[in-house]
Amino acid sequence: MKKTAVFPGSFDPFTLGHESIVRRSLSIFDEIIIAVGSNTLKKSYYPLETRKKIILKVFKDEPRVKVDQYEGLTVDYCKRTGAGYILRGLRTAADFEFERAIAQVNKAMAPGLESVFMLTLPEHSHINSTIVRDIICNGGDASQFVPASINLKDYKGENV
Ligand code: ADP
Repeated sequence: MKKTAVFPGSFDPFTLGHESIVRRSLSIFDEIIIAVGSNTLKKSYYPLETRKKIILKVFKDEPRVKVDQYEGLTVDYCKRTGAGYILRGLRTAADFEFERAIAQVNKAMAPGLESVFMLTLPEHSHINSTIVRDIICNGGDASQFVPASINLKDYKGENV
């Protein structure tokens, strides 16, 4: 059976850390859906369409990576798409504690769904979308933290 994982997140913006988790996970899964969550309560810097456009560009040569958006619970999105796995990246002990609670709640709500965690590479453990966003908003150069194929100057943010 085809192994499909959903990699959910805000990806505001998509970083080198995210890219690495997806590329490394392609050796485990047949297909990965990068699902950009549209949370009406959480203000984003890059509009949803821009975030999707950036991710599509990063994986334009990788047909096993799909990009989508969703609202609501990740478990419901996984049920709708038929995905059996939720993929998440771990950087720190704080990430672990946060992810553990979410994964256990998800398991209670959807017992057939497995959460799979991939540990970040040491060189990516400091990369964080919030900090990258802060650099961009303050006119700094964040290019070393985002995928090489992306020139952030091509994309406009808003809602600051
Ligand atoms: P969320 O708002 O759901 O936390 P993010 O876009 O911040 O969304 O992150 C999506 C996923 O990517 C999360 O599992 C997060 O832990 C992981 N992640 C973020 N940055 C990195 C990184 N530098 N290395 C590995 N995983 C990361």
